[in-house]
Amino acid sequence: MRQNQLKALNDCRRIVVKVGTGLLADENGFRPEMIQKLAREIHFLKKANRQVILVSSGAVGAGREVLKRRSDYEPLAEPGLSRKQALAAIGQVHLISEYSRLFSDVGIHSAQLLFSARDFRDRRAYLNIGHTLNELLDLDVVPIINENDTVSTEELKFGDNDMLSAACAGLFHADCLIILTTVDGFLRDGKRIPFIELVDDEVLSFAGGPTGPGSGGMRTKMEAARLGQRVGHFTAILPGKQESPIRALLEGKDLGTLVPPFPESSARKLAARKKWILYVPGEGRLIVDDGARKALLEKGASLLSAGVQQCEGTFRQGDVVEILDNRDTVIARGLSSVPSESLQGLIGGHSNANSSVEVVHRDNLILDPHPRIRK
Ligand code: GLU
Repeated sequence: MRQNQLKALNDCRRIVVKVGTGLLADENGFRPEMIQKLAREIHFLKKANRQVILVSSGAVGAGREVLKRRSDYEPLAEPGLSRKQALAAIGQVHLISEYSRLFSDVGIHSAQLLFSARDFRDRRAYLNIGHTLNELLDLDVVPIINENDTVSTEELKFGDNDMLSAACAGLFHADCLIILTTVDGFLRDGKRIPFIELVDDEVLSFAGGPTGPGSGGMRTKMEAARLGQRVGHFTAILPGKQESPIRALLEGKDLGTLVPPFPESSARKLAARKKWILYVPGEGRLIVDDGARKALLEKGASLLSAGVQQCEGTFRQGDVVEILDNRDTVIARGLSSVPSESLQGLIGGHSNANSSVEVVHRDNLILDPHPRIRK
């Protein structure tokens, strides 16, 4: 690691740490020693006046462990959604009480926060979450966040806790997101890559899906790192099984994979509202023609209905939509000024340039500096 990067990392004041299910449990069950290790690592970060938020998976796994102790429990070979939600409800209590107990052993106070993607889509709820987080940090409490699995169905889900931790890093204006995982870092042909300057399509093509009990895999970690580059924070993917990976990173040891922010994004931090547009799970997709693509990317124009060829999904006025060109490349995200129902009536030959209405105002638009094909 270069000296200037090590200094920038050590200067980070707001840190989000994410820990996956695969580290909190193994084939022998739940591992309290992982929580003890996290307590030591967070204590180390806080000693140097850093604020820390923890995003922890592991509720479903812990729920399974709790039930296994009951003689009348019969696990299902293929548990459905409601069984998994019940396991999460059972396990979350266990998980948070272990955190609370083991963190207080080293003098760390903690609190539990559970969100669904719906809470992030609703801007008022989103801002309220931000106020609560700040209040907790002022009270010197470490917020421990998980997805609210009992209400999250497919449409309400972040997808996985990697994306939830990325969204929390955006909301919290973090300088660094640390993702602790069961592997050594980002691997390419079996070899660890210590530093990635740009998370592009090629890098993403080497990032696979989940291999263990968690839900994300390397792919979602790199997607989170890619967003971090734009938003202006470091992302470190670290081997969570090592003795003290976070301390080692800040001491400049060679471990894991580090993805720095784009230099321009750290110099000119993205406005809070734009970060929200970037992270909130989109409600719909607009496919635009070549003229609109050019106007958006080259002229900094707003998106007009005349340039929209297709509208997918159901969204309300003010919801976040993804904007794609007709080669399936995501070029921007923005807030729609019109609901999908009205937009459907305006596209497909029902409008011309004169009667075209503004669908996304340029102030509510965030362009992708490195557009890529949607998977
Ligand atoms: N929220 C889930 C749990 O606590 C985990 C999701 C994930 O691993 O990404 O069990």
